[in-house]
Amino acid sequence: MEKKYNAYENALEVLRGAAEQAGYKHDEYVTLEYPERELKVSVPVVMDDGSVQVFEGYRVQHSSLRGPCKGGIRFHKDSDIEEVKALALWMTMKCAVANIPYGGAKGAVKVDPAKLSRGELQRLTRRYTAMVLPLIGPEKDIPAPDVNTNAETMGLIMDTYSMLKGYTVPGVVTGKPVEIGGSLGRSEATGRGVMITAMQLMKKLGMQPENTRAAVQGFGNVGSAAADLLAKQGVKICALSDVSGGIYCADGLDVSKVRAFIAAEKGRFLKDYTIDDVRHITNEELLEADVDLLIPAALENQITAENAGKIRAKYIVEAANGPTSVEADAILTQRGITVVPDILANAGGVVVSYFEWVQNIQSLMWEEKEVNRHLKEIMVRAFEEVWTICKEKQVTMRMAAYMSALKRLITAKHFRPIFP
Ligand code: NAD
Repeated sequence: MEKKYNAYENALEVLRGAAEQAGYKHDEYVTLEYPERELKVSVPVVMDDGSVQVFEGYRVQHSSLRGPCKGGIRFHKDSDIEEVKALALWMTMKCAVANIPYGGAKGAVKVDPAKLSRGELQRLTRRYTAMVLPLIGPEKDIPAPDVNTNAETMGLIMDTYSMLKGYTVPGVVTGKPVEIGGSLGRSEATGRGVMITAMQLMKKLGMQPENTRAAVQGFGNVGSAAADLLAKQGVKICALSDVSGGIYCADGLDVSKVRAFIAAEKGRFLKDYTIDDVRHITNEELLEADVDLLIPAALENQITAENAGKIRAKYIVEAANGPTSVEADAILTQRGITVVPDILANAGGVVVSYFEWVQNIQSLMWEEKEVNRHLKEIMVRAFEEVWTICKEKQVTMRMAAYMSALKRLITAKHFRPIFP
């Protein structure tokens, strides 16, 4: 029986497992077991009917060891401090795997954004920004989009921060609209990174994209871009799902068409997609679909001890953060299923966020092909480093990715020993 899922406990277990396997002494990594700072805020919002509702918000800075803290902001009804702590720790690991000069952070507001009007959401975003203002800034902690937040949200955070400072500060967030300092290529960057990683894996294993069938759970920013870009590489995307359920077509779905359908009207979900010869499936069915490659791109804890034994895909590329529980991971390993871990597979977003921040600091703009070229270089290099550790040490890709990150973090700690 699986114990009650706690994202942070899950994250710590993996971190400790990797540190022990790599032979580090506890003193060398103990600071990574604790977030540097946790801030919990109350976010009052005047609702459209004149009443006041107070939402709980968080910002956690896990580590600033390798550079300013970096991590997204999520709006979700189930968010809590434990989830945000885990997401912040994963950001530290991700930035270290990708070898970009950042630490890790994350933020959230416990809210179901679908229940708020546009005006209410704007006021929520601005007040949350004001409440976390002491922590954020281009030199210390830089938010970005995550679940249920987007470029528009980032624009509002940037504007609120700038208004309170008295001058425009584009570098306080990444993932902004291009018109106000966002980077070309950022909106698809996480999905593109997932595609690059999946293609690298297929290359290593001698798999042909045309003969590869995939299922993607989650059709938001990350899942839809990853599915589209993989389809453009020739991979057959047989199943897609979102919070409403999924669609399936054994011959492969027309992902661009599905994307256009969803984007055409606010509030459209995959359950509404009745064009073409698609079969409607549940999220459980999607995870257990008869495909080669499974890409979870929704939320944490989707592959659990309950369903890990039923997964038919031989390869999993984790586009979401923390989609696999520790118990499920052990089952997948035992079944010989290769998992490309989140901290490697979805690093494309933070890599292009880094490019955006660099462009903001230098007040210049890169061409999209330059962004994509540098993204590919960094993703391929990180993949190769992890693959090498995996083969040399005979460990899973997850352990290898953590070992790669830990080596950089522990070396950094050596040069920045405990103060005072
Ligand atoms: P999003 O809000 O754009 O999309 C989330 C998608 O998941 C939506 O399609 C939603 O309907 C679906 N979903 C929600 N609950 C579901 C459920 N129970 N079953 C199936 N589908 C469900 O969010 P996103 O930005 O695409 O983020 C998705 C994942 O990727 C998260 O784990 C996030 O932390 C991670 N991630 C995002 C970025 C980024 O740049 N946005 C970067 C790295 C990692």
